[in-house]
Amino acid sequence: MKRSYTVVAALLVLALFCGMLTFVGKLRKQDDTAAPGQTETVTKNEQDTPKEETPAEPAEKPNEDTTEEPADTPAEPDIPLYPPLAETDPDDPDISRGKENETAVPTSFDPEKPMVALTFDDGPHPTRTQEIVQALNDHNVHATFFVVGNRVPMFPEPFKAVVDGGHEIANHTYSHVSMKEVSADELVKSLQKASDAVVENGGEATKLYRPCNGTVVAEKASSIPYPFILWSLDTNDWKKSNTSDSIYQYVTENVTDGDIILMHDMYEKTAEAVPRILDWLQQNGYQVGSVSELFQTKGVEVQNGVKYFSVSNHG
Ligand SMILES: [Zn+2]
Repeated sequence: MKRSYTVVAALLVLALFCGMLTFVGKLRKQDDTAAPGQTETVTKNEQDTPKEETPAEPAEKPNEDTTEEPADTPAEPDIPLYPPLAETDPDDPDISRGKENETAVPTSFDPEKPMVALTFDDGPHPTRTQEIVQALNDHNVHATFFVVGNRVPMFPEPFKAVVDGGHEIANHTYSHVSMKEVSADELVKSLQKASDAVVENGGEATKLYRPCNGTVVAEKASSIPYPFILWSLDTNDWKKSNTSDSIYQYVTENVTDGDIILMHDMYEKTAEAVPRILDWLQQNGYQVGSVSELFQTKGVEVQNGVKYFSVSNHG
C-alpha cells in the first residue's frame, strides 16, 4: 500500500512538472509572438513612410529632369519641351507679388546718359521668369520679354508676374516659328495669335517682334506689320559652356551705350547672372529699360519691316 502511495505521489509530481513545463513553454511562445508583433508594427511604419514618399519622388524627379535637360541642351536657344502646368506649383510662391507698390521704375530717362535694354526670349518659364522679374523689380527697371504665344496660357502665373512688374511684352511668334519656315501670311497669323494670347492673359497687344533665331527673310520682311528687334549683345546663355559668371563677364566687358542685350528667361544661370549684371550696370552709370523705353529715350522711332540691332544700328 505504502508503495502504491509513493508511485501515485511520484506520478503526481511528474504530472505537475510536465504541467509547469507546458505553462512555461506557452509563456515563452507568447513572448515570441509579442516580439515579432512589435517589429511588425515598426516594419509597417517603415513601409508606410516610404509608401507615401517613394512614389511622390520618382514622379517629380523625372519631370524635373525633363524641365532642365531640354532647357540646357538645345543646339539653339529654342525651346519646346516643358513640364505640364501642374509642375509649376513647387516654385509658384509669390516671388513677384507684393513688390508692385514699392517699386519706383523711372518714368523718364536722361538721353545723355548711357542706357541699355535687357531682353528675354522664349518664355514664360515656370520658375526662371519670376526669378528674373524679381531681380528687375528689385532694381527698379523694366525689360522686354519676347514671349512665345502658346506658352502664355501654359504658364499664366509667371506671365502675370511680367505684366504686374510693368515689363514690356513683345512677340516671338505663337509657336516659335522661324521666318524661314513659313510664308509671310502664316507668320502674320502666328504673330497675331501670339498677341491675342498676350491680351487674353492680361497684357497689351504686342508692338515689337523678335524673329526666332534672328532670321529675317528679306522678301517677306515688308509684309510683316512689326519692327524686327534683334540685338547687339548676345550672351549666348543657352550654350552649355556658358555659366552665370561667363554671362556676367561677357556683358560687363562688352556693353556700350544703346545696346540691346539678348538673354533667355529659361536658364538658372541667366536668372543668377541678371541681378549681378543689373548691379554692375547701375553702379557704372547705365540706365536700364525695355526696348521701347530705350528707343524713346534715345529718339529712335521704330518702323515696321525694319531691323533694329541697337540704338545706333538699324535699317
Ligand atoms: Zn527664340
